[in-house]
Amino acid sequence: VVTISGLHKSFGPREVLRGIDLEVAAGEVVCIIGPSGSGKSTLLRCVNLLEQPTAGRIDLLGVEVTDPDVDIDRVRTHVGMVFQQFNLFSHRSVLDNCTMAQRTVLRRSREEAERAALANLERVGLADRAQAMPAQLSGGQQQRVAIARALSMDPQLMLFDEPTSALDPELVGDVLGVMRDLADAGMTMLVVTHEMAFAREVGDRVVFMDEGQIVEVGPAGRVIGDPQEPRTREFLQRVL
Ligand code: ATP
Ligand code: MG
Repeated sequence: VVTISGLHKSFGPREVLRGIDLEVAAGEVVCIIGPSGSGKSTLLRCVNLLEQPTAGRIDLLGVEVTDPDVDIDRVRTHVGMVFQQFNLFSHRSVLDNCTMAQRTVLRRSREEAERAALANLERVGLADRAQAMPAQLSGGQQQRVAIARALSMDPQLMLFDEPTSALDPELVGDVLGVMRDLADAGMTMLVVTHEMAFAREVGDRVVFMDEGQIVEVGPAGRVIGDPQEPRTREFLQRVL
């Protein structure tokens, strides 16, 4: 689904990604962990070209997106992205938030879009809040709406960048539960997270990044339960 090879990214003189190679297979859940500033978000943003790589190649859903002639909007249509901030339209209902892109980008009819939106709101446990405004929901509920909105576009890949770090602790579990269900349903997912238990239990593989490089990658249970690299061990001791 995604193949990243030799990826470099600099901001001015500062090299933030220094040669990343990573593949994500269909149905796989890959969790990215690592200290603040290690380049996790930048890597995720490079995957759908929210950041332009400085060097290297990225193949996304069979398209070489680093080819300058690529129609990136077309590829992005099939990639769902969920950020720390939910970015819902505050003056639109939950249902409208979940139908707008379906109608404008996928050109679905109102009925079709609403059907998909309600099915996905059901999936995240919020079908009964379809008419609510975002401000009437908790942060955890808003994040679940953001997930339902992304799913309504029928993505072939979901990118998550710390989707629970802005949430009050008691709301984190519901969002992680929704992500776990998605993983169980076979969704291909690339997840930046600080939730080590989630990475260990839901991730197929875990990538540990530090200073713009992948220090260690392997089966989730092994990387988190029995890390081989000193830097991974040191990081995990700090966060666990
Ligand atoms: P965190 O865990 O805090 O989210 P991260 O691993 O996601 O950290 P990135 O956000 O990818 O780290 O940032 C990596 C480095 O790149 C940081 O030093 C950051 O300051 C720098 N950086 C990120 N975006 C930009 C930008 N648009 N311009 C300049 N520097 C940037
Ligand atoms: Mg980040």
